Amino acid sequence: MGRRKSKRKPPPKRKAIEPLDLQFNCPFCNHEKSCEVKMDKGRNTAKITCRVCLEDYQATINFLSEPVDVYNDWIDACECAN
Ligand SMILES: [Zn+2]
Repeated sequence: MGRRKSKRKPPPKRKAIEPLDLQFNCPFCNHEKSCEVKMDKGRNTAKITCRVCLEDYQATINFLSEPVDVYNDWIDACECAN
């Protein structure tokens, strides 16, 4: 009698967490999804840069901030500048 090979259970599938949207439309050159947000929560700063026109903006964030907040700040700042 051979031992029954124990079937290894595959690890339970985790729910795929959708990555937060990190790319936004540029308010300067109007390219879609050309602006990428980089969050630096260690320093409480975030930077958003457009890879097309190279406009950038740095914002102060906190641990609750999300990339879209940075983007909204940028838009607000643009509107103030105009
Ligand atoms: Zn741009």
